[in-house]
Amino acid sequence: MSATHKSLDVVRSYYEEAVKVLQVNEGVASLIWSTDREIRVQIPIVRDNGVLEVYKGYRVQHNNARGPYKGGFRYHPTVDAAEVTALAVLMTLKTALVDVPFGGAKGGIAIDPKKFSQRELEQITRRFTNGIMPVIGIYEDIPAPDVNTNPQIMAWFMDEYSRKHGYSPAIVTGKPIEVGGSQGRNEATGLGVAIVTEQLCKTLKQDLKGKTVIIQGYGNVGSNAARCLAERGAIIVGISDVGGGKYSPKGIDLEKALQVQKEDGSLQKLDSAESLTNEQLLEKPCDILVPAALDGVLTGENAPRIQAKMIIEGANAPTTDDADQIFEQRGILVVPDILANAGGVTASYFEWVQNLQQLSWPLDEVRHRLQIKMTSAFEATWKMAQKYHTTLRKAAYLLAVKRVADATVLRGYH
Ligand code: NAD
Repeated sequence: MSATHKSLDVVRSYYEEAVKVLQVNEGVASLIWSTDREIRVQIPIVRDNGVLEVYKGYRVQHNNARGPYKGGFRYHPTVDAAEVTALAVLMTLKTALVDVPFGGAKGGIAIDPKKFSQRELEQITRRFTNGIMPVIGIYEDIPAPDVNTNPQIMAWFMDEYSRKHGYSPAIVTGKPIEVGGSQGRNEATGLGVAIVTEQLCKTLKQDLKGKTVIIQGYGNVGSNAARCLAERGAIIVGISDVGGGKYSPKGIDLEKALQVQKEDGSLQKLDSAESLTNEQLLEKPCDILVPAALDGVLTGENAPRIQAKMIIEGANAPTTDDADQIFEQRGILVVPDILANAGGVTASYFEWVQNLQQLSWPLDEVRHRLQIKMTSAFEATWKMAQKYHTTLRKAAYLLAVKRVADATVLRGYH
């Protein structure tokens, strides 16, 4: 693996520790760590003003020992081979941990989508689809949305692929319902956060009902997690968006927050709660903290002041290495990202299954199946943590690496 990225270094250190504890054969460990395929494609586009520009697109297929490659693609100026590779490795671990029959991949294009018209975005998406067409397939590699890509972009992706291969909704997940998307996909990551939080409380013989929760980020993951946790009796005392935080010890009116956000594009006019910065909000009193916005927000600097007793990682990589060690010393339980936010990829798996069978499940069935998958992933991780006397993060890595290694050995290498 040639690419380097700070999150890849962190993932690598957990991976190497897991390999050592599990006594995975050295060759197998190196085979799993290496990416299977990394491709870079050229994306020429004629802008609305007639100027020809060329962008770079990436698809990194990390590992398919347990099933077809799976992972989103993002449109963001910082996208490069290293970032995509780190995210692809995480997908391999995440799909193994929730035990869905997929491997791991990731992709992206280095653009800021806000600077393009809808016509230009459609052209970019179709050229990207064509560029990676030789290496994807409904049993080969199934992309999905990620940062700045949405159901409309997935619909263009599906349409372009289907022009060459016949109607193929199973080529991509996160589609609009009208063209084969699944009920419940939109809420799935937030619902998964609520399910694992409830399981953690049950395991500790505590009641989620009445526990106070602060959520950083009120986007897809944060707002759905807030609603699903409140439905289970938790009191959401803090929420935030890019403009800052809102805190109310009596509980935030979530309906009102959604309404203000819809009307104003921001939470800042929610006047029934105290305004504070995102940094201050993280340090306010609560039982449960859910970072659901950015990576690296819980650091060695603020970790000693965090008052929550449980941290549920809705975002990817919100906790730095130093912070993780401080939380472990302070006895604060951290449910790691590869478990806590795996509800999205699990619902993507359900979408793929429905597409292959040309069926459409009702919302209740999606929710019920998500409950089963997330609960069993949580229980298996907890058991691993008990067995090895370790943290939930290290246990999640042990479980995921073991599953990928077992599949690799069983399938053989020739
Ligand atoms: P989103 O764009 O819907 O919401 C992001 C939220 O974070 C918004 O409320 C935004 O205002 C807030 N935010 C942005 N910058 C901020 C800042 N500097 N400080 C505080 N808040 C800020 O994104 P999302 O889909 O909810 O994803 C959030 C996180 O969850 C990301 O780390 C993403 O990778 C991860 N994740 C998402 C999914 C999914 O299915 N959407 C699945 C797995 C992981």
